[in-house]
Amino acid sequence: MENDAKSTNEMYAQFGIDEKVIAFADTVLSDLSDRFHDFDTTTDHNQLKVIKAMQDCRVQESSFSATTGYGYNDFGRETLEKVYAAVFHTEDALVRPQITCGTHALHLALASNLHPGDELLSVSGKPYDTLEEVIGIRKSRGSLREYGVTYAQTDLLPDSSFDFEGIRRAVNPRTKVVAIQRSKGYQTRRSFSVEEIGEVISFVKQIDPNLIVMVDNCYGEFVETIEPSDVGADMTVGSLIKNPGGGLAPIGGYIAGTRECIENAACYLTSPGLGREVGATLGVLRSFYQGLFLAPNVVNAALKGAVFAAEVFERLGFDVIPKADEKRCDIIQSVVLRSSENVIAFCRGIQSASPVDSFVVPNPSPMPGYDSDVIMAAGTFISGASIELSADAPIRDPYAVYLQGGLTFPHVKLGILKALQNLKDIGAVSL
Ligand SMILES: *Cc1c(COP(=O)(O)O)cnc(C)c1O
Repeated sequence: MENDAKSTNEMYAQFGIDEKVIAFADTVLSDLSDRFHDFDTTTDHNQLKVIKAMQDCRVQESSFSATTGYGYNDFGRETLEKVYAAVFHTEDALVRPQITCGTHALHLALASNLHPGDELLSVSGKPYDTLEEVIGIRKSRGSLREYGVTYAQTDLLPDSSFDFEGIRRAVNPRTKVVAIQRSKGYQTRRSFSVEEIGEVISFVKQIDPNLIVMVDNCYGEFVETIEPSDVGADMTVGSLIKNPGGGLAPIGGYIAGTRECIENAACYLTSPGLGREVGATLGVLRSFYQGLFLAPNVVNAALKGAVFAAEVFERLGFDVIPKADEKRCDIIQSVVLRSSENVIAFCRGIQSASPVDSFVVPNPSPMPGYDSDVIMAAGTFISGASIELSADAPIRDPYAVYLQGGLTFPHVKLGILKALQNLKDIGAVSL
């Protein structure tokens, strides 16, 4: 045993991690075993849910076949969409490689269900940065605003809870879609539990049962045993290069929801009259299925990594959101590092632990869709996949870094140790 332990530490030493960092990490980890056990319990449930859905939909070898051209009668695509509907307990789902990313999936859900003169109401405050241009909060070519869809927003209360009275006041006869963002994205608010999302959905439906509720589910899938679709969301929307793709899907997005909303989305994605009947899958289906199968376990690794990071940096006196012992609602961990030097050191540590592009040195730079410079650390097999270990930080006060993903826990652990070592080396922390 001692020899094994010694050789693992020698392996860490090869990565430039000193004994103090390792000893500190060991202490932190030994205190997290109960927390980790809770994640395993959730993962058991979700793994069974996915297997049951695949069995009920009779997933089989021919489900993985590739189609080309129009992609008519794509059996595998149709079965996959049934599997997603079964996992999310919805009437229907649209899951396609033609949906290029999460922002595209969200735009598709919104644009296809809002008409000129309708209003979109966000009840979770300012939406994710890239949606500002989708909606037209920031002027942008092709925004919903250009097509005559107006936008209203109810900010969260100071304690990050929903402002129910504000929501009641904001709803008007033109309100058609109500948007809720489960994960905090690049904000320092909390993320919402599915239960909290359910409460606000019930409230909204009491005001007007015809309101369509869309939940931006990015980063939330499989963190809990229920999804927003289980508590009344009409559309639950996300990216396949995040949680539900399990690290294997090379592209894609999904919308799970009511038959009506999904039909609208399909006709917008392809063309009126063609709808969901076209859309060749070009051989990516196997990775969609296999990724979905692995997703609960990948999310488990990411959650363990997130809590490990929270505990490490909380003990060193940094603000972390969520706190290490708080309930998890998504896989994002933010650590408020208080200076751009610290943010850069942290991100370079994460990068240097990657299996891919470990030699690249990340620097802050402008990013399309974001209004400040952003530093991004990621050495991923799928370009930009944030279900793989990655860290991003907009270079602005309070210098919070957002850490997410990790296909395996040992990899996330290595990344955090490298980040910690870098911070120790520049004198930002002492152990
Ligand atoms: C990542 C994310 C998006 C956008 O997804 P992309 O795939 O980056 O376009 C939208 N909302 C939230 C909350 C996200 O985390």
